[in-house]
Amino acid sequence: MKVLIVYAHEEPHSFNAALKNTAIKTLEAAGHSVIVSDLYRMKFKAVADGEDFLERRDKHYLKRQLEEKAAAELGTLSHDILTEQKKLRDCDLLILQFPLWWFSMPAILKGWVDRVMAMGFAYGGGQWYDTGGMKGRKAMVSVTTGGPDFMYSPLGRNGDMDKILFPIQHGILYFCGFEVLPPFVAYSPAHASPEQRDAMLKNYGKRLATLETLQPIAFHPTHHFDERMQLKPEFQS
Ligand SMILES: Cc1cc2nc3c(=O)[nH]c(=O)nc-3n(C[C@H](O)[C@H](O)[C@H](O)COP(=O)(O)OP(=O)(O)OC[C@H]3O[C@@H](n4cnc5c(N)ncnc54)[C@H](O)[C@@H]3O)c2cc1C
Repeated sequence: MKVLIVYAHEEPHSFNAALKNTAIKTLEAAGHSVIVSDLYRMKFKAVADGEDFLERRDKHYLKRQLEEKAAAELGTLSHDILTEQKKLRDCDLLILQFPLWWFSMPAILKGWVDRVMAMGFAYGGGQWYDTGGMKGRKAMVSVTTGGPDFMYSPLGRNGDMDKILFPIQHGILYFCGFEVLPPFVAYSPAHASPEQRDAMLKNYGKRLATLETLQPIAFHPTHHFDERMQLKPEFQS
């Protein structure tokens, strides 16, 4: 498998870096090839703006999705976006590695999503969810938290982690056509003992060893919805 890790942490000695390094080591030892987009080291431009287009179809009014669609056809997206899109096109598995920030992803990673997962490339023209542009590829979230696991249980103070990750796993990854593997969550590494942190890294290694047989999250495919995009009664449970 060709694996792309998009990694968003500013500190090379962080626990996120340790998870990223564990993934590289484990996956390469298993015969997979791994490339990493280290967003902070790349100083990846996080702000989506008019400079993302080498030419503009409308110079007077910036309507991003229409510019993306035209630029995707003409190959006039900026070089850094095209480079990341090629990495995505070439991969079998995308891993997003990041710390949970404000119940979401750091801005630099959100900027990568905003700019790289462009209309006409990752979705659009009737291609979304199970027909999205990234169809045929898998994706997985690997995330760390500040809060402990019990705060992210369904009745916990911070709410159910599955619901917190829904906008990323469903709204971004599944929307763009990826089959989404269950997330790996390392809870509160900063408050864990060295032994607990070692165990988290070992568990991540074990998880990565099961990638090829792991069942994706069972999000509803398009045919489960009626013509008004409502879930058909037989699939409601
Ligand atoms: C803007 C912002 C918003 C945030 N929002 C949230 C939120 O909504 N919810 C939430 O729960 N948290 C939140 N946090 C906290 C954040 O999620 C955690 O601080 C982060 O996930 C911890 O991961 P880290 O990689 O930064 O850990 P680090 O603090 O870098 O590392 C933890 C420990 O692991 C050690 N370590 C590093 N490498 C190894 C190794 N190889 N082996 C063993 N140990 C190692 C480090 O030395 C350190 O002691 C937020 C933080 C910020 C800055």
